[in-house]
Amino acid sequence: MKTIDNYDFNGRNVLVRVDFNVPLNDQFEITDTTRIDAAIPTIQKIISGGGAAILMSHLGRPKEGPEEKFSLKHLIPYLSDQLKTNVIFAGDCIGESTKSKASRLKSGEVLLLENLRFYKEETKGDISFAKELASLGNVYMNDAFGTAHRAHASTAIIAQFFPKEKLFGYIMENEIKSIDKVLHESEGAFTAILGGAKVSGKIEIINNLLNKVDNLIVGGGMMFTFIHAKGGNVGNSLVEDDLLELALNILEGAKEMGVNIYIPTDAIIADKFDNDANKKVADVNEIPDDWMGLDIGPETIKTFTEVIKKSSTILWNGPMGVFEFENFAEGTRAIALGVAKATENGAFSLIGGGDSVAAINKYNLKDKVSYVSTGGGAMLEYIEGKELPGVKAIKE
Ligand code: AMP
Repeated sequence: MKTIDNYDFNGRNVLVRVDFNVPLNDQFEITDTTRIDAAIPTIQKIISGGGAAILMSHLGRPKEGPEEKFSLKHLIPYLSDQLKTNVIFAGDCIGESTKSKASRLKSGEVLLLENLRFYKEETKGDISFAKELASLGNVYMNDAFGTAHRAHASTAIIAQFFPKEKLFGYIMENEIKSIDKVLHESEGAFTAILGGAKVSGKIEIINNLLNKVDNLIVGGGMMFTFIHAKGGNVGNSLVEDDLLELALNILEGAKEMGVNIYIPTDAIIADKFDNDANKKVADVNEIPDDWMGLDIGPETIKTFTEVIKKSSTILWNGPMGVFEFENFAEGTRAIALGVAKATENGAFSLIGGGDSVAAINKYNLKDKVSYVSTGGGAMLEYIEGKELPGVKAIKE
């Protein structure tokens, strides 16, 4: 298989699907450059290898055609600065003028195309649109992990026009490598930590993980569905009543497969959903009516961190409590620190999903864990065991 490290880019026009879906403020300034920064090594590799890079991306969710606030032209100054070259811009992602700009590119040059989603054909996965895009380059590279779970024109459909000349960029390569390492090559004790609001969004993940992990730690709002299903009084805590039976089935399934499942024993409870609510520690089975659990308690933190400490592979998705409220963030912070500590002692840790990534960033632990996934939805689908169209299109 061709890889970014063994490919000869010399004299090639490389059409790269990047994820430049960055937030812009009212003045069209980029307020978080993470996604652009992450793609720089891939682009640099192409141009330093003598190729030209044609970058294509979406930005936001334009409804009908072009809209100023979703134009990728706002990214040119920053991108040019980061790449130390004047990035050329095409005001349309397809069409004659764009084709001519692409064909005139010289080795080392970078062309940024206008927002793909100004055409509804992009998300529809339209094949003629994909063909038009494909005509701009002679190599296709996908480096947009965040959209790899979508069969869009630029993320999957386009690959068929490059039966041999197609490959992953560094971001895709690293994401797939890290998730595969956790799911298929884990060594020693493998612990998955799941949190977040609801069980409903995580059922597929739990099902796919049960035959892989040794320990499954459950925190966040979803813990109360399990506790209530077992007969505990959870007061006003978040419970999905329609999933009580399923929760019991999961517990039973874990037992049959020899998975140790850890459900909190104590919680920090509050008399309202507010950072300034009255709060106290309670047994998870005895939460008074009108009170609700908003974080895991100190005894639980101790149990969880002990398990994490002894793990060699760790997968973490979802906060342990309402960590956006400073007074209910301790559980999430303690688990983040526990994962960092285990990593320091040699464990491989993968953090994925919007809120756990936010937590890791909040506590400045990004460099203290093995890998932080950039693609929320895509990563979750991969962990669910689904084949991602963007990955499949390159591999097959
Ligand atoms: P998810 O998107 O499913 O990963 O859920 C993340 C959200 O779950 C965060 O916004 C947390 O505030 C929320 N959350 C975590 N623990 C609780 C809890 N005990 N009760 C209500 N919401 C929670």
